[in-house]
Amino acid sequence: MNRKYQMKSSIRANNKNIRRRRRLIGFFTGVILALSLFFIGQALLIKPAQPAIASNASAAAQPAKPSKSTASAVKGASTVLPQDTATKSPEGGDWRLILVNPKNRLAADFTVKLTKLSNSQSIDERCYPDLQKMMDDCRAAGLHPLICSSFRSYEKQQQLFDNKVKKLVAQGDSEETARKKAATVIAVPGTSEHQTGLALDIVDLSNQNLDESQAKTPVQQWLMKNCMNYGFILRYPEDKTDITNITYEPWHYRYVGKDAAKEICDKNICLEEYLGR
Ligand SMILES: [Zn+2]
Repeated sequence: MNRKYQMKSSIRANNKNIRRRRRLIGFFTGVILALSLFFIGQALLIKPAQPAIASNASAAAQPAKPSKSTASAVKGASTVLPQDTATKSPEGGDWRLILVNPKNRLAADFTVKLTKLSNSQSIDERCYPDLQKMMDDCRAAGLHPLICSSFRSYEKQQQLFDNKVKKLVAQGDSEETARKKAATVIAVPGTSEHQTGLALDIVDLSNQNLDESQAKTPVQQWLMKNCMNYGFILRYPEDKTDITNITYEPWHYRYVGKDAAKEICDKNICLEEYLGR
């Protein structure tokens, strides 16, 4: 009797243990399941990375600070503006392919992190290494390129435009006519590619005129032949004026990155055609 009772109670205890174990297993399985669902949910909620959008005033309005970079600038000291901002590109796309023209305006609060070159020129710091290499190689070929224009802030572009309007009004034009006329020679603020920090006007030291004679200079001949290898394109070619709506500018170069630059040059298309816009 006693042994039977012992057996029964040990079976009961065993059953109890099994039930407890099952409950524990059930509990932990539930916890693991819940955690898995939580993490899967989180992963699905994470959006693709977007470039940061800066809302500060123009970078040019900020004081420049000496750069820690020891790389020699395009002939001159290098300084980087102290803003922690990224380029705002349309539709969150590739910053190198930003399209700026009269139909695609840049926001007034557009900012870009700049690297300062000589002659108080500055460019988007991300294309600086390629520009430096292009200028170095051009010089190594015995030529004398000179960057005469680069990044321009919205304010600077506005100032240039307003000055032109003022001049025309002083010459007898009405305000409206003056604005229309000014827009044919100076880009309306927000429509100049120079505001992106990705555009440069480069001339030959021996001929600093911004006219078609520039195309014949040794510097332009070299740049037109080689710029794509450094990620630059001649932005306003002679045979694309009906698409760009900008007259031939054999001095205005635009950074688009090496892949795009090579494709654009190989196919003999302009940026608008490349982007299908
Ligand atoms: Zn230009």
